[in-house]
Amino acid sequence: MDRAVETKDAVVVGTGLVGLAAALGCAQAGLRVALVGPAPPKFRPSAQAPFDERIYALSPASVGLLVRLKAWPQIDATRVQPVARMRVFGDTGARLDFDAYGAAVERLATIVEEGELARVLEAGCAYASGVQRFESAFETMTRSTDAVRVTLADGTALAAKVVIGADGANSAVRAAAGISADERPYAQTAVVANFRAERAHDGTAYQWFTDEGVVALLPLPDFEGRPAVSLVWSAPTDLARHLLEEPPQTLAERVTRRTAALLGALTPLGAARGFALRRLTAAHLVAQRVLLVGDAAHVVHPLAGQGLNLGLGDVSEWLAVLAAREPFRDIGDTVLLRRYERARAEPIGLMRFTTDALAKLFGLDDPVARRLRNTGLSLVDRVAPLKRALIRQALG
Ligand SMILES: Cc1cc2nc3c(=O)[nH]c(=O)nc-3n(C[C@H](O)[C@H](O)[C@H](O)COP(=O)(O)OP(=O)(O)OC[C@H]3O[C@@H](n4cnc5c(N)ncnc54)[C@H](O)[C@@H]3O)c2cc1C
Repeated sequence: MDRAVETKDAVVVGTGLVGLAAALGCAQAGLRVALVGPAPPKFRPSAQAPFDERIYALSPASVGLLVRLKAWPQIDATRVQPVARMRVFGDTGARLDFDAYGAAVERLATIVEEGELARVLEAGCAYASGVQRFESAFETMTRSTDAVRVTLADGTALAAKVVIGADGANSAVRAAAGISADERPYAQTAVVANFRAERAHDGTAYQWFTDEGVVALLPLPDFEGRPAVSLVWSAPTDLARHLLEEPPQTLAERVTRRTAALLGALTPLGAARGFALRRLTAAHLVAQRVLLVGDAAHVVHPLAGQGLNLGLGDVSEWLAVLAAREPFRDIGDTVLLRRYERARAEPIGLMRFTTDALAKLFGLDDPVARRLRNTGLSLVDRVAPLKRALIRQALG
């Protein structure tokens, strides 16, 4: 027999950081929300692995959204590290420096662990009276001009005005809405790991463009009174496989050499993890009674550390469209969906273009590309307006 249908205003599919933020924001805007997806994995720090391997550099705009969602004050301040400056090295010694002081901002970004962000957003959703959790998976949906009906893997039936697809790169919502996606692998895997450092990082995020891929060391809060950093090494697939297979101490020694021991000898704080890299662009952000947010809509190369920022930007824009809607429009009205899509087109397109161009330029192993990228870095470093424009983009 058919189960009773739960009626909501919005169904948010996906319990990653973007889905949690979307559900919380919609509930705070007064909507009745069904939040569908598995419980996010919990991170428990230990003496060997005191930090989550998933580390995010959040833009001030993302932190602003989390403040508005009342989630940011719940973050454990001892686990947060501001980024005061950024230093980028080309593969022939060219250098590009950004700093918060020069950009007239308090910080360039804020480093936070995924586990910590998930913890506070989940707590927010648990306390929000408007959010009902369904620990199941989205399976299908049928849409009509005035409603959408969703069926979950456990047989639950939901009816709503809009479905928000926050279900990541392989989005089932995107497929069910008939939105195609252009997806290409980068033939690279990001290797992430945390290390103790010998020298203070002074809140600096370092990035090296090398002939073995892009190596980034992000500053972490001190651990047991000593500096710590987080590695993101976007390496060609074969090298990445090798990096992931070698013992943590060997990887630490390799990263020490690769980064010219700028922070002294590194020692491992936990094991490494790998993420296959790809770019993905959905042909549309919306369809009848459906909108996509986060990686369901766009996946960008992590070299600029902007994927989550872009996803939280989607949520922020959707909440702004909701807040400004005319009282006669229901929340799944095509006009609102189109406003959202139009507003997001430029920031998403710009980020995609920048990260893709950099990934390609620095992935090419020929002398012309090498000269071009190093000249480019030095040029940006010397041309103040260009530098400011890049910083503005990164700040969101
Ligand atoms: C190495 C690396 C470093 C990065 N660093 C940064 C950084 O510094 N700053 C930054 O801004 N971004 C960064 N990113 C990008 C960032 O990780 C992603 O953009 C972000 O996590 C996407 O979040 P999401 O919630 O959209 O998707 P996901 O995290 O993929 O979440 C999707 C959720 O949907 C659920 N789901 C899937 N299918 C279904 C279904 N059928 N039904 C219900 N639920 C479903 C999944 O279980 C999951 O919970 C980095 C990425 C990588 C790989």
